[in-house]
Order: sequence, then structure tokens, then C-alpha cells
Amino acid sequence: MPWTNYHNHCKYCDGVEDIETHVENAIREGIISMGFSSHSPVFFENKWSMNVTDMPLYLRDIQLAKEKFSDQIEIYKSMEIDFFPEQSGVINKWTEDLELDYSIGSVHFIDAFEDGIPWEIDGPLLTFEKGLNEIFDNDIRCVLEKYFDYTIQMLENDCPTILGHVDKIKMQNHHSFFFSESEAWYIDLLKQTLEVAAKSGVIVEVNTRGLYKKRASETYPGIFGLQLLKDFGLPVCLNSDAHHPKEIIGEFENTAKLLKQIGFNELMVLKNNTWQARPFDLSGIHW
Ligand SMILES: [Zn+2]
Ligand SMILES: [Zn+2]
Repeated sequence: MPWTNYHNHCKYCDGVEDIETHVENAIREGIISMGFSSHSPVFFENKWSMNVTDMPLYLRDIQLAKEKFSDQIEIYKSMEIDFFPEQSGVINKWTEDLELDYSIGSVHFIDAFEDGIPWEIDGPLLTFEKGLNEIFDNDIRCVLEKYFDYTIQMLENDCPTILGHVDKIKMQNHHSFFFSESEAWYIDLLKQTLEVAAKSGVIVEVNTRGLYKKRASETYPGIFGLQLLKDFGLPVCLNSDAHHPKEIIGEFENTAKLLKQIGFNELMVLKNNTWQARPFDLSGIHW
């Protein structure tokens, strides 16, 4: 049975290998529909986002692969676009200008250090602790409020097709080091965010990267978040956020099992250029 995956990085951002190598491996792993989602260019120097000058090459390579493998797999073009409140609108502008098939909107940064460099919430723990201390005076609740507030602003003002790893910030919270995810204030923040998501028409991804990279004990969102998605009737898709071809279906089977246990019966897929809900089981999607 086939799988789909709409969150994939390659050599044009912080992933490895070219588009064609990713596609060849995806076909071997049973992927029938996939999308590339390199990190969109941002306004500051970094090692992980795509250079503006590479964008035409990125889009060209996707188009070439789409044509070359058209009888084996559906390939779509996208980007994972960062949300910054001061640049609200950019997600839909990129999507329109580049004629992307869909967009992934993600919050990776909240606030900035004194030198103006945005603070990365999913980078090394030391960077996380530095920002927590220097920008937020070690007030973790304030950090979480801002993180989810940015997500809500994105959903309300510049809504992407797919909401990327909605609670990824918890990857820093090993063994509940900074806060307890069962505290009422945290649950409320997640709930409020997903309530807004439910009104926005967004698809929420179930992102397995933390699991197979052993950076988190759960998917993004975790079990509690998944139950909320189910309660709110939000459409979901299963993505691995692969940065290497071998990660394309990382933890898909276990996660499909979990989703079934929670009561999900369908996953959103792109088929013939249209998003549609398809039934699935542990071995894949009923195409
Ligand atoms: Zn991301
Ligand atoms: Zn990603």
C-alpha cells in the first residue's frame, strides 16, 4: 500500500541529496504522491534556508522530476515558509508568485536577540536556553504564549495550506525540564491554537521527525494534540519532514497505528492536483 509525504527537504536548503535521488528513493519506499518543501529564503544570514538565487533551479529540478517520473509518482512543489509577524502575507505571496501547489507555514523563530538575530526555537538546546534567558528572563510560559500567538497570527492573517509541526517547541522540553505539558495553561494554549486552526481551513500535519531523530518522544503534535485534532474535526496529513532520502517514511507505520487508535480514519493527500481525504491503515493509504 502506498504512502504520501508533503514535507521534504533536499540539497537546496538544509537537506541532503538532489531532487531526483529523493524521488527515486521515495518510489522504492512506496510513496505515490510527494511534495518538496525547502525552507524559503529569509531576511538574515543562516545555514538552513534556500538562497534566493537557487529558487529557479529548485523549481526547475522539481519540474524535471515531475516529468521524468510521471508514470510512477505524483510530485508537487512547495516551500516551508517561516512566519514572522512583521512579514505577514509572505506565505501567500510566495505561493502565488511561484505558483506553488501548496504551502507549509511554520513558526521556527520568536522574537530576537539584542543584535536583531531572530531566536530559533528548534535549534541547539544552548541557543534555546540563551534566548529564554536573555530575551524572556527565563519565563518559559511567556515563551510558549508568544510561540502559539505567532501560530494563531499566521492562521488568521496568512494561512498556509499545511500547518507545520504545531508544537515543535516541546522538542526542547525533555523530561518536562522547562514545563509540564499537562499544566492547564499549556493545554489551553494548544487548544486555543487548534480551535483557530479548525476555523481556518488549514490541514494540520502529523510530523514524525522528532521520533525518528530521537529528539522527541512523540510526533508533533503529540497524543494530546492529536486527540484535540480529532475532536475539532481537523483534516490531517502524515509527513516525515525528511532531510535525507532514507527518512521519507520514518515512523509512518507506528504513527498510522496511533492515529487509528485515536480514531482517525482518513489522511489528506494530493491526488490529481486536488487535496482529498483518503482512508488508510498501517500499511499505507487506500489510494
Ligand atoms: Zn520546520
Ligand atoms: Zn521542515
